Amino acid sequence: MNTIEKASVTELVETTGHAGSEWLSRYSSSLMDVFGTPQRVLVRGAGCLVWDADGKEYLDLLGGIAVNALGHAHPFVTSVIASQLATLGHVSNFFTSPTQVALAEKLLELAHAPAGSKVFFSNSGTEANEAAFKLARRNTGNADTKRTKIIALEGAFHGRTMGALALTAKEAYRAPFEPLPGGVVHIPFGDIAALEAAVDDTVAAVFLEPIQGEAGVRPLPPGYLKAAREATSKAGALLILDEVQTGIGRTGKWLASEDAGIVPDAVTLAKGLGGGFPIGALITFGEATSSLLSAGQHGTTFGGNPVATAAALATLHALESQNVLANAAAVGEHLRSALAAIPGVTEVRGEGLLIGFDLDADVAPAVVQAALDAGFIVNSPGPRTIRLAPPLILTTAQADTFLAAFPAILQAAKDAQ
Ligand SMILES: *Cc1c(COP(=O)(O)O)cnc(C)c1O
Repeated sequence: MNTIEKASVTELVETTGHAGSEWLSRYSSSLMDVFGTPQRVLVRGAGCLVWDADGKEYLDLLGGIAVNALGHAHPFVTSVIASQLATLGHVSNFFTSPTQVALAEKLLELAHAPAGSKVFFSNSGTEANEAAFKLARRNTGNADTKRTKIIALEGAFHGRTMGALALTAKEAYRAPFEPLPGGVVHIPFGDIAALEAAVDDTVAAVFLEPIQGEAGVRPLPPGYLKAAREATSKAGALLILDEVQTGIGRTGKWLASEDAGIVPDAVTLAKGLGGGFPIGALITFGEATSSLLSAGQHGTTFGGNPVATAAALATLHALESQNVLANAAAVGEHLRSALAAIPGVTEVRGEGLLIGFDLDADVAPAVVQAALDAGFIVNSPGPRTIRLAPPLILTTAQADTFLAAFPAILQAAKDAQ
């Protein structure tokens, strides 16, 4: 064998010099068609900007769907990942590593978790919720009560694997894959009376997103989390918060639920946690909940991998030391108030840099296309709803370029209908 030395990816795949159309035709011959046709072929990113194979520049206002908290190619995160990978890339969970332990400790600190709280690492959001689902199944109750039910909300999105899919409400995602794991009941969104009526001693857990991202950035009404905490505590059910999209500074706070004045039993995280590197986590609060899953009852090959945990440590450090959460809160506020003043925008929702806004016509998919043509990446979670989840380092000046362009983008979308 010849020795094989350092190389750059361009020696394996020519990332420039091929038109986007060529990649898309190769894509359609080789990739499973579950995502539809990709909108563009992206080759490079820096901060809040990305470039496609044809050299066009975009302001990324979606951030890989709330993932790229520090934007693209962040020098601090990239160099920490590279240094960990060059030191120790992977070990099995027969072993641990310093970054894994340090990240677990850091997450417990950021979540204000009480003594006895613990962390389980996964590779994605759906896997964090699978772990939470299995945790809930272990909340069996005593000999007399059998806790077979799990409550989730209409509009909920918790992931695409079978357990998380059972928690997800959308019929089009669920129906082709039934039977799903049983016992999940969906109750009306934001209705405290319906929640109180549903939570009794047959319920193992209640799963809630503080803000439903996929449903169009719908925040739970004030007081809902508190009522959920009271009802679940009374019934002995777990309160599990899915902060996969809302966590890690997205709302200008470490957790969207942190001002609700409650201590949940578990929180799931993923998306922003690794700053673009795949990692998820389940945090369990307190000794009793943290010991529901015992040795051998759950596992994963990659979960808590040294590189993924180093990426997350680097992301958390940069978010903290650069005061990025305050930026997300301020730029988000600026965007929301300016969007609300644009004709054709009928409602603006969200917190920090997780923003949803409704239009006065069912043109959201056409807005996504018109925005791309104008050099902006946005997303349409519904026929008249646009979602923004940009890097948390977005500047006011960058936000203003989108605000200035949006009226013409909306008009172009309406003209294209
Ligand atoms: C994205 C998301 C998930 C699923 O995460 P994946 O990493 O795509 O598996 C689960 N819950 C919420 C709230 C999400 O936004």
